[in-house]
Amino acid sequence: ESINTADTADNKFGQQLRAENEANTLTVNELEQAINAGELYLVYQPKVSCISGTLTGLEALARWQHAEKGFISPEKFIPLAEQNGLIDRLTLQVFEQALPFLNQLQAVDYAVSNQNRDLLLSVNISAASLKNLKLFKQIEALCDTHHIRPEQLILELTETAAMDDPVMSLDILTQLRLRGFRLSIDDFGTGFSSMLALVRMPFSEVKVDKTFVMTSADSRESRLVIKAIIELAHSLNMQVAAEGIEDNTALELLRKMGCDQAQGYYIGRPMLPEVFIEWSKNASEHIDLQRLKHLHSV
Ligand code: C2E
Ligand code: MG
Ligand code: MG
Ligand code: MG
Repeated sequence: ESINTADTADNKFGQQLRAENEANTLTVNELEQAINAGELYLVYQPKVSCISGTLTGLEALARWQHAEKGFISPEKFIPLAEQNGLIDRLTLQVFEQALPFLNQLQAVDYAVSNQNRDLLLSVNISAASLKNLKLFKQIEALCDTHHIRPEQLILELTETAAMDDPVMSLDILTQLRLRGFRLSIDDFGTGFSSMLALVRMPFSEVKVDKTFVMTSADSRESRLVIKAIIELAHSLNMQVAAEGIEDNTALELLRKMGCDQAQGYYIGRPMLPEVFIEWSKNASEHIDLQRLKHLHSV
């Protein structure tokens, strides 16, 4: 009898596991189908200069609107893609969509917003992709096809990605850098290997994690961390970008601390391509340029 009971318990456990696996498999299949059917799409979030307020670039962010389950966060489907060998296909699709959009955007007349420099496009790259040289060859080929120089692209990596296998990462990051790609270290300050990653790797930009930025007004600790990151990055000749700027207080604080670029809801939300184009035509009106100029001249 006791064996029977154990058996039943075991079966229940097994059933539960199977059910969870099925749910999991289903989602992977759904994600794969969505990728194959081209159902994933991109939104773009603007990045502006902290000093002049002008639009300097944009970050492509992946979105998935499931037919029945509705909006699925990238925080969910990106890890799923990473764990199931789908991430490189997803990344390629991001470039396939974002590169023509960058060209479309460059063709917009920026006379109004006094925009005349090349816009930089940021794309997130997963840790797992760093091992895949073929992916970067394919990205380069896409750049050729769309007549976009690697210098116009910023590949965003998290510090854990870079420090997972530091020797291999240093090798591939150096190769990418030599080919002209700009490299950014995303969500900086949240990992354990931050300083080392920054000093050793050929990054062009450091992105201060939004948790520090969002608490900067209230937390002296956050401000100290931000200050230290900015000083270190600048001494290494890297640009500093802040993500998660949600109000003017944060923008002013970061600007005063010497941050170069700003990104966040206060400046602009992630937008659909058509919306982004409209937004960019009057980019200078979206943040208080006059006020920034005034402060700058004081
Ligand atoms: P991330 O690269 O650090 O992107 C910043 C995230 O912060 C985005 O979330 C953005 O919508 C959000 N954000 C921007 N401004 C603000 C703000 O002012 N306040 C707050 N609270 N949040 C803000 P999202 O789009 O949900 O993306 C989450 C993460 O998913 C990204 O973090 C990135 O790591 C990953 N991800 C998104 N798209 C891709 C992709 O195409 N490829 C890869 N590998 N990862 C992606
Ligand atoms: Mg990013
Ligand atoms: Mg980030
Ligand atoms: Mg993040």
